[in-house]
Amino acid sequence: MNELLFLLLPLAFYSGWKASGKNLTFGSTEKRQLPDNFVKGVNYLLNEEPDKALDLFLNRPEIDEYTAETYLLLGNLFRNRGEVDRALSVHQNLIGRASLNRDQKTTTMLALGKDFLAAGMMDRAEQVFTELLQGENKTEDAREALRTIYEQTQEWSKAISVTEASKPQSAGNLSALIANYYCELADASLITGHIQHANEMLNMARESYADSIRIEVIAARIHALQEEYQHSSLLFLSVAQKAPRLLGIIYQPLIESYQQVGKLDQLQDELFDIYIKYSDVKVLEYTLRLAIQTGPSENILQQLPKLMESKQLNIRSICQAVNLYCKLEDPESTKILPLIQSALTNHLSSQPGFQCRHCGYKMHDFLWRCPACNYWDEVTNV
Ligand SMILES: [Zn+2]
Repeated sequence: MNELLFLLLPLAFYSGWKASGKNLTFGSTEKRQLPDNFVKGVNYLLNEEPDKALDLFLNRPEIDEYTAETYLLLGNLFRNRGEVDRALSVHQNLIGRASLNRDQKTTTMLALGKDFLAAGMMDRAEQVFTELLQGENKTEDAREALRTIYEQTQEWSKAISVTEASKPQSAGNLSALIANYYCELADASLITGHIQHANEMLNMARESYADSIRIEVIAARIHALQEEYQHSSLLFLSVAQKAPRLLGIIYQPLIESYQQVGKLDQLQDELFDIYIKYSDVKVLEYTLRLAIQTGPSENILQQLPKLMESKQLNIRSICQAVNLYCKLEDPESTKILPLIQSALTNHLSSQPGFQCRHCGYKMHDFLWRCPACNYWDEVTNV
């Protein structure tokens, strides 16, 4: 893709030059010089000699508003190819030119900031984008770039300020983003033991976006830290009910809170209800893990054989089920063999049986030609 873009550069150079009103007649010496340089530069680029092309472009004494566009593009192409030093050379050379109009100056500044960002020079990038914010053009681009910087440097307060300023212009939901930044600050406060500050940050997050599930996770953790286990157990369960995907990160504190209020034996049935509601096998996995830990409930013992026979479980949950049955030490434990057989057969029926050796693409049916990489004779059994 980058190569293609690179080949488009001469075209941009040519059209810019054309648009400048000059033509390709060979009347005067001055007029002949431009196409010569152009052809030379293009040749260098095509021959993968970017430094020579760069010299040619950078040492050109005059740049008008049309050739400036080409310079900008050239710099961006270098950056896209990962050649940040060359991109910086081009854009820095360009920004020093007096012939740029105001809009071009702004666009070049933006490009320069992106070069610094790509080079990992965060301070310089921040300086450029902050300077841009003082102008009138491209302020949204500059804000977005600054947000990226502050996310990388984890300067959440600055990220909040710059995002708040974008709110009136933005069509997207920046409130949820700002709530995440406040949650980051709350998390950081919890690590250093500043619970009051964590609560303050959480309130700010609520003001920004009350529906954030992350706020509930942190609130539950704060209640647990303050040994208010009744609250924390309810909140952790609520998180699992609303967002089963988060069960992995709250599983341990959830168990601890339930243990503290003496309700651990009812938790596996509550988790099992969540599994039934969402059919999320990860939830079943955690439910069975708890059942192994505390002994299975009547409900689990009754439902599990049906699940193993009828549902498509993943290998981990099948493994947990087997572990559970093994732990029961049922003298008739051989009865579970047909259950394991059913569960594994169900699982395998959902798995692709073939894979491309070249690109790794998996498929259910054998094909002579891989539909992902188009290679022939590479498909094999998994
Ligand atoms: Zn392939």
